[in-house]
Amino acid sequence: MAKKRIHYFWNPETLSFERIYTSFRDRLFFGLRHLLVAGMGGLVVLALINLFFDSPRVKSLKEENDRLQTQYELLSRRVEHAYEILDDIQERDNNFYRALLHAEPISSSIRKGSFAGTERYDSLKDLSSARLVIGASQQVDMLRKQLYVQSQSFDELVGILKENESFQKCVPAIQPLKNKDLKQTASGFGVRLDPIYGTPRFHSGMDFTAKRGTEVYATGDGVVVQAARDGGYGNCIIVNHGFGYQTMYAHLDSYNVKNGAKVTRGQVIGFVGDTGKATGVHLHYEVHYNGKTVNPANYYYMDLTPEEYDIMVEMAANSGHVYD
Ligand SMILES: [Zn+2]
Repeated sequence: MAKKRIHYFWNPETLSFERIYTSFRDRLFFGLRHLLVAGMGGLVVLALINLFFDSPRVKSLKEENDRLQTQYELLSRRVEHAYEILDDIQERDNNFYRALLHAEPISSSIRKGSFAGTERYDSLKDLSSARLVIGASQQVDMLRKQLYVQSQSFDELVGILKENESFQKCVPAIQPLKNKDLKQTASGFGVRLDPIYGTPRFHSGMDFTAKRGTEVYATGDGVVVQAARDGGYGNCIIVNHGFGYQTMYAHLDSYNVKNGAKVTRGQVIGFVGDTGKATGVHLHYEVHYNGKTVNPANYYYMDLTPEEYDIMVEMAANSGHVYD
């Protein structure tokens, strides 16, 4: 205290002002009382301000919190919309794309999966909007999981498609020589009369009559696994097409491919002749599937219209003349 106040009192007995000497204790007490009253007054004012007015920092935090909440709600709605789109894709995947490519549909238990382990959200539990934040996080995590399954499904389908494309190129699918008017069809697959002994015998391929030297085509992409003289078959080529398919071209006058050569559908591989056991110039053509001969008539679908196919089957069935 820079200025010391001096107090006096009127003494009627001495008829004079006399100085009052206050003790240090009294002065301390007065000082503390003042301080206390002032401090309490200040606190009351502060409390009132806080009650009715936020501090700028609290105010801005509250605003931020409100905005975050709104944003989360918006996000949640957007994720729901994304789910609707994904549902549609999953539905099409199972019932259209996978069905088309003969792939098993993916069950909903695999697609949606079990969502184990919510403990990953434990750190969010103490947030004021915990329900909103955890809910949105869960939604996004599940969406991510389902998208992963969906993308795997598409990868699988691309694989099947590639395999299919290769299959389409390789499978025998045209006639082994030009036979547009079908007049070259001589004899079909099945039991026929033996040309030499006149007895019923199983004819394991299809015969086409044609002039000597007529071009013979590979009926699908593949690899030549035989190009040689082969007993009764004469000059004979066998092409391996993969996927269990082989084709055989027999009684050739000559051929222009070597063992191991890669051939493509429609490529000239030899020329019609009558080498081996044959009663006339013709091509004997066989299709083998998994080591067994099958009816070649079923493997011309890239060459013939359904009507032509019917005519050919009829001709091949009715014609008794086998050239072997
Ligand atoms: Zn034959």
